[in-house]
Amino acid sequence: GVETDTILQTRGLRKQFGGLTATDDVDFGIDEGELRCLIGPNGAGKSTFLKLLTGRLEPTAGSIYYDGDEIGHLPSHERVSRGISMKFQVPSIYPDLSVRENLRIPLQRIADPDTFEQRTRETLERFHLEGTADETAANLSHGQQQRLEIAMAMTLEPTLMLLDEPVAGLSVEETAEVADLLRTINAEDDVAFVVIEHDIDFVETIADQVTVLHDGAIFREGSIEDVRNDPAVKRIYLGE
Ligand code: ADP
Ligand code: MG
Repeated sequence: GVETDTILQTRGLRKQFGGLTATDDVDFGIDEGELRCLIGPNGAGKSTFLKLLTGRLEPTAGSIYYDGDEIGHLPSHERVSRGISMKFQVPSIYPDLSVRENLRIPLQRIADPDTFEQRTRETLERFHLEGTADETAANLSHGQQQRLEIAMAMTLEPTLMLLDEPVAGLSVEETAEVADLLRTINAEDDVAFVVIEHDIDFVETIADQVTVLHDGAIFREGSIEDVRNDPAVKRIYLGE
């Protein structure tokens, strides 16, 4: 879209683990409806930064503003109810439950039974999971599990989705499917994304603007072409 309103902004965000500075005074902002990739070599501080946004980690210093409010000290569930949805590297589906039962967990807040059934059906259709509705989640392919997780997150009608390496371990076809899904959600539902990824080829297929983290700090920010052709960025990746 053409939105220019900031949805998320950090100011001087810092996280130390003892003497190690994992997040080094980061000022990071994204606009409503934007899809931003966060890249950088292993150990750059990408996951730590995302965990500060979700509330899984407490910042050592600094602030996080979301939709105008400081949320840096709110518990995760309050951030979720404000519209921030999150998905980590480790899958958070319930492996012993069926696909339908998994979806019913985030949908159970809907009191009206007809609405509840309708939303379950719509979600199964939209995420191409109808054929697997009664399968046990553990038996799904990796790509189907990723779709189920994203579907569960979308039932909460988020305005911002935070994803840590959503295509790690997926096949080429599954990766393309997830890329497609993220682009569709971003375009149709106007959900903003911060997606951590260290595969630059995947990043190129989904994002225009990227932020490069290195040693906990923002190293570069710009278009994927500019960042990709930047010799200094190449050097930090090679130094991995
Ligand atoms: P990335 O996701 O970019 O690979 P991380 O955020 O996982 O990087 O890690 C950044 C740095 O912080 C690394 O040096 C890592 O070893 C360190 N780190 C991450 N989590 C912890 C923790 N819970 N305790 C101590 N050090 C940590
Ligand atoms: Mg990580």
